[in-house]
Amino acid sequence: MNPTVYFVIPCYNEEEVLEETVKRLTAKFDAMQAQGLANGKSRMLLVNDGSKDKTWEIITRLHKENHYVEGVKLAHNRGHQNALLCGLMTAMPLCDCAISLDADLQDDVDALDKFVQKYLEGCDVVYGVRNKRDTDTWFKRTTAEGYYKVLRLLGVDVVFNHADYRLMSRRALEGLAEYKEVNLFLRGMVPLIGYKSDYVYYDRHERFAGESKYPLKKMVALALDGISSFSVKPLKLISNFGIIVSILSVFGLLYALISYFAGWAVSGWTAIVCSIWLLGGLQMLCLGVVGGYVGKIYSEVKARPRYRVEEFLQQPRE
Ligand code: UDP
Ligand code: MG
Repeated sequence: MNPTVYFVIPCYNEEEVLEETVKRLTAKFDAMQAQGLANGKSRMLLVNDGSKDKTWEIITRLHKENHYVEGVKLAHNRGHQNALLCGLMTAMPLCDCAISLDADLQDDVDALDKFVQKYLEGCDVVYGVRNKRDTDTWFKRTTAEGYYKVLRLLGVDVVFNHADYRLMSRRALEGLAEYKEVNLFLRGMVPLIGYKSDYVYYDRHERFAGESKYPLKKMVALALDGISSFSVKPLKLISNFGIIVSILSVFGLLYALISYFAGWAVSGWTAIVCSIWLLGGLQMLCLGVVGGYVGKIYSEVKARPRYRVEEFLQQPRE
């Protein structure tokens, strides 16, 4: 039997691209239905992440005109990861599988069939992996690839060059629903669910229109979240570092004592000043890392809601 497929698309100030995205995804759904890859209950779920422009008006209109379009309006801008989770959780009871993709057509629409084919072959999670990064700037490419490597080194199980273009079956979504954390890093959480998974390789396009909603600041925040939500290695590194410095300081002390008794305790001003600054800086850095984890514990313990749905425009179920 053909599956009910949901496309889940977080949208933040995407008025320039939405119409085109919906047009292309509509054509895709028509083709997928003809090929037996999706049934008539399949929908695209546009999650408006508190946009300041006309995004929600466009979604409301498209919902009336196009029987594939459903919309969720969040009460605030909660960021991409929260908006995506909201979309996935809304789609969960309605679908057999959900595919998350960006609103800006960077995730190759033509690859969508391959995801569903893998699902029909029995995969619960299908990761979209970028073939190459030639549409990125040199800076983004190097930092992104370096980052995946660092995550691996820190013991976080992430799929190399996979962002949030992925298919999840309903039971994988039910698995995801059990993770209650507030600091979301979905690409690190999904591999924890388990089940059979596979990859689909695709070429990432340029943004169709508009500009990136992920400025460097948000990107760095997400990257740091990814590390501190999934790895406690930085804390261990700090302790190891502390041990090494303590051992070294014993030698330093010995040296100082010997110098004192031998009578060549002189100047040494440079060494002292340098070590004060160096150690002061390193201590503050280490405190900062520990503080980062404490801050996270704080927000996890409060367990505030991750998003709030203000409105859900649903299509009639056949
Ligand atoms: N997005 C969102 N909330 C935000 C920022 C971004 O829902 O606060 C959405 C955005 O509309 C897009 C996706 O997340 O569908 C990815 O954002 P973008 O394409 O701007 O990021 P980039 O591809 O430049 O990393
Ligand atoms: Mg984009």
